[in-house]
Amino acid sequence: MMAEKRFLAGIDDLRAIEFTCKKCKAGTTRILNEERNFVPTQCSNCNQPWMINGGVLEQAIRALFKAVRTIRELQNEAIFQLKIEITAEGLTPLAVQKSALEP
Ligand SMILES: [Zn+2]
Repeated sequence: MMAEKRFLAGIDDLRAIEFTCKKCKAGTTRILNEERNFVPTQCSNCNQPWMINGGVLEQAIRALFKAVRTIRELQNEAIFQLKIEITAEGLTPLAVQKSALEP
């Protein structure tokens, strides 16, 4: 049995959240550093609704944005370091899309 490859990402390594439409495969990205991120509730390409405006899923995604911001703001005061473990299977190379993240 091959060893499973796993990676550790620090909170500052988390750059963006990508939403990909399961219907048309179009994607949109939200940079995590931005103060106010709006959650896309529908596909901007094919207009497929993705979630209910104000529903549980949208609230959870908003909470995720806020949690990352809060942890980043407070991490220097904490006496521990938080890292997120990612399996190699969960990694997708972003070479083509990288320019979308650059300022
Ligand atoms: Zn779509």
